[in-house]
Amino acid sequence: MIDVSKRNESLLIRGSVVKVRRTCGKAQCKCVDGELHETWALSYSYEGRTRMIPLREEDIGVARQAIKRYQKSLNWLESQAIQGIKHLHATVKAAKRRAR
Ligand SMILES: [Zn+2]
Repeated sequence: MIDVSKRNESLLIRGSVVKVRRTCGKAQCKCVDGELHETWALSYSYEGRTRMIPLREEDIGVARQAIKRYQKSLNWLESQAIQGIKHLHATVKAAKRRAR
């Protein structure tokens, strides 16, 4: 079970906040004439499929912050991985020099 009391400041979310325009299905609504309802959703891919979670107005900021946090973490991880490659490369080159 997900702990929903988890503090928002530490959330990581992969995806993007998107505006969704849709009809509601009621026969007599303004959306039938093309004035579509606008709602917000989190769009993300999981197990090869794009999925959507409808968001309340108050969730939008939280989701955007968590997405930014995820991107920063991802950038950090990527730079660490590149550093790892450079370190390994330098180690191999140094060993070759010593072997000559
Ligand atoms: Zn409608």
